[in-house]
Amino acid sequence: MIDFRSDTVTLPTPEMLAFMHQAPVGDDVFGEDPSINALEAKSASLFGMEAGLFCPSGTMTNQLAIKTHTQAGDEVICEELSHVYQYEGGGIASNSGCSVKLLQGNRGRITSSQLLGAINPEDVHKPISRLISLENTCNRGGGACYDFKEFEEIQKIAKTHHLGLHLDGARIFNAIVHKKEDSKQYGKVFDSISICLSKGLGAPVGSVLVGDAAFIKKARRWRKVFGGGMRQAGSLAAAGIYALDHHVDRLKQDHQKALLIKDALVKKDFVTEVFEVETNIVIAKIEGKYNATQLAQTLKEKNILVIAMTPALVRFVLHLDITDEMLSTTIATIEKL
Ligand SMILES: *Cc1c(COP(=O)(O)O)cnc(C)c1O
Repeated sequence: MIDFRSDTVTLPTPEMLAFMHQAPVGDDVFGEDPSINALEAKSASLFGMEAGLFCPSGTMTNQLAIKTHTQAGDEVICEELSHVYQYEGGGIASNSGCSVKLLQGNRGRITSSQLLGAINPEDVHKPISRLISLENTCNRGGGACYDFKEFEEIQKIAKTHHLGLHLDGARIFNAIVHKKEDSKQYGKVFDSISICLSKGLGAPVGSVLVGDAAFIKKARRWRKVFGGGMRQAGSLAAAGIYALDHHVDRLKQDHQKALLIKDALVKKDFVTEVFEVETNIVIAKIEGKYNATQLAQTLKEKNILVIAMTPALVRFVLHLDITDEMLSTTIATIEKL
């Protein structure tokens, strides 16, 4: 099977497994796992932040950030396609007791002027606007990247209105590699950042939340409450360290492959549109000979797995385990459809 369903499907490489195998471990709830401590410090310093917190999933790092930034009754502002809203089981409401103000952006991205209009005035009728949560790259937006200047404009507004600014950076390295950004810029703009090690970076498990020391101290307490305090989990952290050291630059290859999938798709008359490909995600609108579900089924019969996100949209995600040969097979298959 050639699996384009998600960049979460990657298997650890033999080199990663060897590195995990030799990792020193200890009880992380006691703060004694050297590999987890090293991963947290490394992640924080990459983003110019003071501290990091290793968690089992990106849902947990996002939800802990929201919990730490807010109080029950506050409001969180985010784009309508955001993972924190769409795919975290209603956690903003159930974990943090917050309401959500949804903005309709461009492929997952909002602008500073939209944000300005979304902040509630000081008025007892209104929930208190407390936190902005952004996503880069935007998953449902087809891997779209923000222009960094927009982040800086949003930060100015957040500061003026005393709002926290969180980034769901599940695929932040795809954006950094594509836009040739310096990861440290992000620490200057955001109060907290969630990064995923188990997406394009290819680690089997894990996400890290980074922020200032006081914020991470509070989030660490909530991690225990959420049941996310792990013990000798250093082998998993080691996979993350290996991924940060070896799997960031190669994301470019996934982006190049994504463009080739797009080139094959645009030639088909059942493809009415392919979103601009910036990173490792290709989303195509399907109509006519197939709908998205039928196309996914047809490809599956030819050993190619993709996701029909809606009856009209099909998604291909490129990752570490898609070889050049798999790519050629896929392109040849698309050409024959
Ligand atoms: C995958 C993903 C997450 C985290 O998902 P987990 O499966 O909980 O690790 C968060 N945000 C975005 C945009 C994602 O794509």
